[in-house]
Amino acid sequence: MEDLRALIRTIPDFPKPGILFRDVTTLLGHKAGFHKAMSLLIARYKGARVDKVAGIEARGFILGAAIAYGLGVGFVPLRKKGKLPGEAVGEDYALEYGTDRIEMHVGAVEHGERVLLVDDLIATGGTAEAAIKLLTAAGAAIVETCFLVDLPELKGAERIKKLGHNVFALVEFEGH
Ligand code: AMP
Repeated sequence: MEDLRALIRTIPDFPKPGILFRDVTTLLGHKAGFHKAMSLLIARYKGARVDKVAGIEARGFILGAAIAYGLGVGFVPLRKKGKLPGEAVGEDYALEYGTDRIEMHVGAVEHGERVLLVDDLIATGGTAEAAIKLLTAAGAAIVETCFLVDLPELKGAERIKKLGHNVFALVEFEGH
């Protein structure tokens, strides 16, 4: 996976000083890299009886939609507060300063559906945890939570595993 790792650009001090932003747009823009990353993930979940893929705004939409297409299943967008036009349910989660909220349309997943959760990166796991709460409150079963990048030092994957869910990431980066 070293080749995929090398395609992810690191931008220091974005969006604020001290953060190493792991920018996956360089991987998305690389035809062989994007194809390989999506092929690996689609192959991983091909036999996993996934009913739907849920992606977290915004980069989780790009990856999640490609994976859903590859699996031949539907896609559910988990959006930032106030963006969904229909009736929505939401889950608040803590940021370093303040809180944020993700929302999902009522009826987007059905009770008992097997849902794969996708985002580009897991750091503290706060966003993924909120997404899991939203999906499970709607009656979904989480097949796995899936990322391009894990930042293990921030212990997000540990946090999600403690909740009883599997975490899979194609690559890891040191630091945060
Ligand atoms: P967290 O809730 O702390 O796991 O943060 C995950 C969310 O924030 C994901 O949607 C990521 O896209 C974004 N994110 C957090 N840290 C980084 C980082 N160092 N580089 C790029 N994206 C990040």
